[in-house]
Amino acid sequence: MSDCIFCKIVSKEIPANLVYEDDHVIAFHDISPTAPVHVLVVPKEHIESLNHITHEKKELLGHIHLCIKEIAEKLDISESGYRVVNNCGKQGGQTVGHIHFHLLGGRQLEWPAG
Ligand code: 5GP
Ligand code: ZN
Repeated sequence: MSDCIFCKIVSKEIPANLVYEDDHVIAFHDISPTAPVHVLVVPKEHIESLNHITHEKKELLGHIHLCIKEIAEKLDISESGYRVVNNCGKQGGQTVGHIHFHLLGGRQLEWPAG
């Protein structure tokens, strides 16, 4: 998707502070962090949102969550704890139309998030 900011990060057209990359997933620090650790974990394939996930993507979704676990270990928030968030659609607060998972940690997170 030529006008998608996360596709441009995947293709290295625009820079990002990467924390992880493999053939299917890229992860980088959020440009406007809301916690000491705020990483976005993104499939390289352009999929708009959770609404667009099909059964064929089950393995990819599982892989993303294993990546999240590894990144949490690497950034030393496994023991203290962390939150994984997917915003889906307008009322879910999604602002970038390429599915992504926020990994948040490094401080006490409140719940409900509001
Ligand atoms: P959403 O609101 O869609 O769940 O999350 C989008 C996130 O992407 C936001 O937290 C926002 O700060 C982040 N973001 C938007 N544009 C960029 C960018 O160009 N680079 C990085 N690293 N993060 C971005
Ligand atoms: Zn995209």
